[in-house]
Amino acid sequence: MGTMKNYKRILVTSALPYANGPIHLGHLAGAYLPADIYVRYQRLKKRDVVYICGSDEHGVPITIAAEKKGVSPQQIVDQFHARNKAAFAKFGMSFDYYGRTSSPMHHQTSQEMFINLNDKGVFIKKTEQQLYDAKARMFLPDRYVKGECPHCGFPEAYGDQCEKCGSSLSPTELINPISALTGDKPQQKETEHWYIPLGALQKQVEEWLATRQGWKPNVMGQVKSWLNEGLADRAVTRDLNWGVQVPLPHAEGKVLYVWFDAPIGYISATKEWAMEKGNPELWKTYWQNDDTRLVHFIGKDNIVFHCIMFPAMLIAHGNYVLPDNVPANEFLNLEGNKLSTSRNYAVWLEDYAEKFDIDPLRYYLAAIAPETKDSDFVWQEYLTRNNSELADILGNFTNRTLAFAKNQFTGTVPARGDLDELDREMLSTIARAPDEIGAAIENFEFRKALVLFMNVARAANKYFNDQEPWRTVKQNPAKCATTLNICLHACNALALLMAPVLPFSAAKAWAMMGHATDVHQQAWDDVRHMELPTGHQLGRVEILFRKMEEKEIEPEIERLKNIQAQPDNKPVVAEPTASISIDELAKVQLRVAKIVAAEKVEKADKLLKMDIQMGDEQRQIVAGIALHYSPEALIGKKIIVVANLQPAKIRGIESNGMLLAAQDDQGNLSLLGLDKDVNDGASVR
Ligand SMILES: [Zn+2]
Repeated sequence: MGTMKNYKRILVTSALPYANGPIHLGHLAGAYLPADIYVRYQRLKKRDVVYICGSDEHGVPITIAAEKKGVSPQQIVDQFHARNKAAFAKFGMSFDYYGRTSSPMHHQTSQEMFINLNDKGVFIKKTEQQLYDAKARMFLPDRYVKGECPHCGFPEAYGDQCEKCGSSLSPTELINPISALTGDKPQQKETEHWYIPLGALQKQVEEWLATRQGWKPNVMGQVKSWLNEGLADRAVTRDLNWGVQVPLPHAEGKVLYVWFDAPIGYISATKEWAMEKGNPELWKTYWQNDDTRLVHFIGKDNIVFHCIMFPAMLIAHGNYVLPDNVPANEFLNLEGNKLSTSRNYAVWLEDYAEKFDIDPLRYYLAAIAPETKDSDFVWQEYLTRNNSELADILGNFTNRTLAFAKNQFTGTVPARGDLDELDREMLSTIARAPDEIGAAIENFEFRKALVLFMNVARAANKYFNDQEPWRTVKQNPAKCATTLNICLHACNALALLMAPVLPFSAAKAWAMMGHATDVHQQAWDDVRHMELPTGHQLGRVEILFRKMEEKEIEPEIERLKNIQAQPDNKPVVAEPTASISIDELAKVQLRVAKIVAAEKVEKADKLLKMDIQMGDEQRQIVAGIALHYSPEALIGKKIIVVANLQPAKIRGIESNGMLLAAQDDQGNLSLLGLDKDVNDGASVR
């Protein structure tokens, strides 16, 4: 490795997700899952580690989303902050603190940084001409100006980019520009802004970067190309009414640029974490101490901000640690194509969690992590990895060992006798595993760590086969006991070694080994020497990894294919508040239905399967309401159903229609019903 200076503590951050939309697999694979694996490992190593993340809640995309929906920016960020925080928790992201940049602490911390740099004379002020909407009485951010693209003639191009041809634009290039707010022609008006002269800080940034070791070549390569071009002055303020106010007199209507305030979110969230711990000064130990190892996990689109701009701010301030490493990931594609949120060409965490188990996804994403180049999520490969690796190797070994111990040794650990060559080899494989896997994780080589881990499970499965305990149980019971003792020892070690990547399964496997303790509180290094005492009572044997069937992933593949078949530039999902015509509305057939039967769907704790009656017609539907309604409580209830929705398969079960329900930000769910009794089959207009 060679990068580990003698640090006393580790501060890990994941890029703050933007609170104007939900999280998808590409996000998870880039900045969150690798960080979570790294942090879980460091905790097991008993290191002092704090993991910080939170919502990035400022910036123009949020004000635009708010305009479109006719709500306040605060309402937008409140919704997505809550949703994204909940989604991350479901996927086991073990943040010590998940903050948000709209918090008073963040505003205060960002303003202090601005004042500090301003007082030191770091900034320069510039007067410039900007487009102004007199009716709305505000300066227009680039995104708020629309007009004809000078390159392709697309009439709806934005002031920063044409979404038709992809050209980068400036608002003054647009032909016949208008304000997106009022439709008026904007006028030029003088405004004044603060700039950080990055060129003047470039030498210090380069000197610092020269001391970095163990950085990924793709990260350093991108950084060098920015530096070779030479850093320019960059505005840290803008005219907008949403964000952190510029804390100076005569700066009304001016806020900090979101690129400037967002990374400060790591500091403000650490402050809030320290307050929650009852030790408000504790954040300084992590941020203002040279023996802290600061690691930023990000996607490659964030490299320039975390490797150049934020460090430049911190260098100019002078009293903060700088990142030891920024192990940025490349991008994740989906079924051979780029992810697209506007076209809904993505797998959203919230949707995935409704239908599938979490650990198989963590496993597959870690196995294909885009560490040095872009990688591709393929549903079929996800299923194969689950079935042939998690289920057939790791799960099978654990289950056959525990089942054998249950049947032949009354569910207890038999005594270990004399060892043969294979026994010794297996024990030494286990003893070497924590250091080998650990070294890969320390080096941000999560794919390699996973291969090394699976090799231990493979070796254990082979050891079981080679020692043939089902044969020796009759011929040589002492040898059989030794074999099982070592297999159980391997199961125990694997339960702990899987904890960083497969946290939910690790807890399950640990309980199956008969431990009442928390696997995530154990010590990684104990794997080298931990023993299960002879006679130790094992726990209940359960299936560790469920085998999946093709029919479960078919609808997912189908959905993506359909989107891919749509013409370009046409968002598949309409904005929720976009107007629709009466003809479009008439296409949706809503009908009253009576629930005549309801039951839980096996192995899917959120799904209910229901038979519904609509006049003469009976149909089956599947809905994700099992956490909110018991099957018994539903029978006889009248609900509203979208009757002409294309049939779909959910977990392989046909669903022919969709029920309507309301859900609030807290996740409370209520089925839509009727306030007077009406016959089932009645249409809703
Ligand atoms: Zn264009």
